[in-house]
Amino acid sequence: MKNYILAAVLLGLATTVKAQQEISYEVSFPNAVHHEAEVSMTIPNVPANVPLKVRFARSSPGRYATHEFGKNAYNLKAFDANGKPLALKQPAGDVFEIAKPSAKVKITYTIFGNWIDGTYSGFDETHAHMNTPAVFAFPIGMDKRARTIKFSYAGKAGWKVATQLKPLGNGIYYAKDFQYFMDSPIEISNYKAASFEVKSADGKTQTVHLMAHSEDDEMTIFNYTNMLKKMVEEQKAVFGEMPIFDYGHYYFLHCVHPSYAGDGMEHRNSTVIVQRTPKIAGYESSLLGTFAHEFFHAWNVERLRPKTLEPFNFTQSNISDELWIAEGFTQYYGNLTLKRAGFRDLENITRVFSGLVNAVSNMPGAKNFSPVQASRYAVFADAGVAVDQMNKQNIFTSYYTYGAAVALALDLRLRTDFKLSLDDYMKALWKAYGKTEIAYTISDLEKTLASLTKNPSFAQQFFKNFVYATKKEDYAALLLKAGLVLQKENPGKAFNGMGRLEEREGKMLVPATLVGSPAYIAGLDLNDIILKADGNDIKSAKDFESLTAKHKPGETIEVVYSRKGEERTTKLTFAENPSLTLLPIENTGATLTAEMKAFRTKWLESAVK
Ligand SMILES: [Zn+2]
Repeated sequence: MKNYILAAVLLGLATTVKAQQEISYEVSFPNAVHHEAEVSMTIPNVPANVPLKVRFARSSPGRYATHEFGKNAYNLKAFDANGKPLALKQPAGDVFEIAKPSAKVKITYTIFGNWIDGTYSGFDETHAHMNTPAVFAFPIGMDKRARTIKFSYAGKAGWKVATQLKPLGNGIYYAKDFQYFMDSPIEISNYKAASFEVKSADGKTQTVHLMAHSEDDEMTIFNYTNMLKKMVEEQKAVFGEMPIFDYGHYYFLHCVHPSYAGDGMEHRNSTVIVQRTPKIAGYESSLLGTFAHEFFHAWNVERLRPKTLEPFNFTQSNISDELWIAEGFTQYYGNLTLKRAGFRDLENITRVFSGLVNAVSNMPGAKNFSPVQASRYAVFADAGVAVDQMNKQNIFTSYYTYGAAVALALDLRLRTDFKLSLDDYMKALWKAYGKTEIAYTISDLEKTLASLTKNPSFAQQFFKNFVYATKKEDYAALLLKAGLVLQKENPGKAFNGMGRLEEREGKMLVPATLVGSPAYIAGLDLNDIILKADGNDIKSAKDFESLTAKHKPGETIEVVYSRKGEERTTKLTFAENPSLTLLPIENTGATLTAEMKAFRTKWLESAVK
């Protein structure tokens, strides 16, 4: 009994100490019409005799490039417990320093936001849409401290809060530490909500919510939630079980309007989905793609997580070798699970696969750089902003596409050679690193593949060739197992490698040219103006296309063009059009064998038992 009381006293003490450490925010929106929010942050127990540094984030979870969130903050002031102003220095654009802080410091500032996506923020009369790193300053060196946040939005008709933060009541929400806080986006609006239940592995009931800020009626939201449930069940079948969501809930924070930026951004127990259609109604099927991708992240990335992203660094870009699996495999499964759930047909999924194979077979980025290198380039490519021209088209193939192509290859290899599937691999990874939340390295991924297949040399070769290097699987042979025929889309047709000429002020401009293509070899470059080709005036993109169609691969023509006002002449030799197409074998006049049909069914049909 005595011990019990002592324990209770100590426990009480611990909670009080914790509460005293808690950083508390208050947010209000008196000038939402001009896209401003007012934020205050109170920091108790500030260490004495050391300067207090407060800063804004430069990156955001799920985004790998830097974003200067401090640029939208102004009127920043600091006060002590009695409301007396404290002197501030600004050692960097987004860093503020109080040389002699008081024990309790309050910081206030205005933040501007008018960009609705998963990375930035937007305030207007209809909602406060907040990606946490884009809105909230934080003190340096206090990452372990819990946070509370109070929202004030009196007078905003119908506004309610939607967030994965834990509700404490009275409009106050809680995050156990800095990382959880920054990972928790917030949408306050007059949204409509519907939900469904899923069982977690430990038998508990969890709720998945759709909070839709859109111009739709309740019935649309309800019906759409049923579609989401079907997709979720199909994804659960891949991993064998649901993740355990903190506090038992998962939230889709959905904003729909043509004026928005459009995005999907995954978080641990929620995802922000911003779409640019007028409504959900009438666009249900096409909107599902982002939902399927983002929900798959609840396993792959949020819990099955690369070591390189742990802990997430909010002051710089976050480089990762593993985005080919974190994003690419997610991309593959987003599409595959929509097919399995019956929301995509064979023609559609075949087009998706042919897009993947085309990209990795024909894009210079995939020919010359490995999936690991493509992943590392995310710090410049992932919504990164550049004012100068980049050579992206020649050095980068998106890790979404590239990684999805690796997933396709591995899935087909496992099915063909081991009577296994990528689902088995995802289950094995989930068991080892996802459910346990042990952050993985690429060598962990290889080890799991070795033990799953009981063939370490296969695993070693696969990673050596297709992950660390630029080799490509024999997609044609593998796809044929499922009765899908990969062939040249335009065999024997000439190809100039220029893409479509861009018309500007009556002039025909060359778009960025790809390494190794006929136009690139001919020395043509971005914004050269094509004047004549093969003796004919070029007055439209179509002129050049029909001229190309009249020639055969290997034939050479003369091209007259202008660069910086100087007229030049070059020779362009046509290649064969490299574009590939993928067709169900039954559409080519050949027979779909029983074996192919069984392979295809097992791969592409529902895995829900
Ligand atoms: Zn993603």
